[in-house]
Amino acid sequence: MTLVWRNRLWGLAFALALFSSSMARAEEKIYVVTTLPDLADIAARVGGDLITVESLAKGIEDPHGVPIKPSFVPKLNRAQVLVIMGLEYEHSWIPALVSEARNPKILKGNIGYIDVSLKVTPKEVPTDLSRAKGELHPAGNPHFNLDPEGGRLIAQTIAEGLTLNFPQHRATFEANLKAFLAQLDAKIQEWKVMARPLSGVKFVSYHQDFTYFADRFGMEYVGTIELKPGIEPTAGHLVELVQNMKTEGVKVVIREPHFSEKVPSQIAAQVGGKVVKLPIMVGGVPEVKTYFDLIEYNIRELLKAAQAAGVAGKV
Ligand SMILES: [Zn+2]
Repeated sequence: MTLVWRNRLWGLAFALALFSSSMARAEEKIYVVTTLPDLADIAARVGGDLITVESLAKGIEDPHGVPIKPSFVPKLNRAQVLVIMGLEYEHSWIPALVSEARNPKILKGNIGYIDVSLKVTPKEVPTDLSRAKGELHPAGNPHFNLDPEGGRLIAQTIAEGLTLNFPQHRATFEANLKAFLAQLDAKIQEWKVMARPLSGVKFVSYHQDFTYFADRFGMEYVGTIELKPGIEPTAGHLVELVQNMKTEGVKVVIREPHFSEKVPSQIAAQVGGKVVKLPIMVGGVPEVKTYFDLIEYNIRELLKAAQAAGVAGKV
């Protein structure tokens, strides 16, 4: 073999080695699966370049009843970490999938199972759990992601969970968390100012999901179209709701994207109010691509609706 050929072969071997080490680095990314898209967006911020993340649910689906696809099981099988909202939010679909996935790391109680509700003080914890009263919120209201302070708890819990699983990356997760929270803090200050005219504004929604949001921005939740979370309304309930709205002067009706527009429109018409379609997760409407988009979009659209209905406060 000539020297030239030998050098060429060495060059080729070197290039191959470089190629395979960069492949290995790509494969070495931590694979994170989340139930909902908000968790994926926040996990991507906290995990940065170290992770790849996928959400099982899409933002337009009903998070309480996500249609199960066969592709979910291999994803959960490969997941190094699973991030869930908790408070039984996903109880109708995630436990069965997790047990099907044959991945001990992400079983409840193991460190690969990150429940972001652990730092949350749940609101509306039921005292009576008979089936007739609905069973979609058995551990209290799980829609804390709609409050930006809920976003802070989600990010902190994800950072702690990732660090527990991958302690060698602690410094990176901490730095990423710090950057996320600095941005969130600045946004929360802006949102508080932006949302001032919403203070005292009364509203109803289809499902009981805006509790944490309403408390954060001083809005008044008067009722829901559903009888109880997950229980469709009766005619009597709707009559009572409209009566109550008239007495209380409620003009804003929130419709979540996975519910049909018919009943919210009828109710709004009866009180001379406005329907506003608001996503409850990232991706619920095309404009909402990130967690920050979600909060900002909801404040902005509620302001528009309240102003159009003549109930927005003056600042
Ligand atoms: Zn719910």
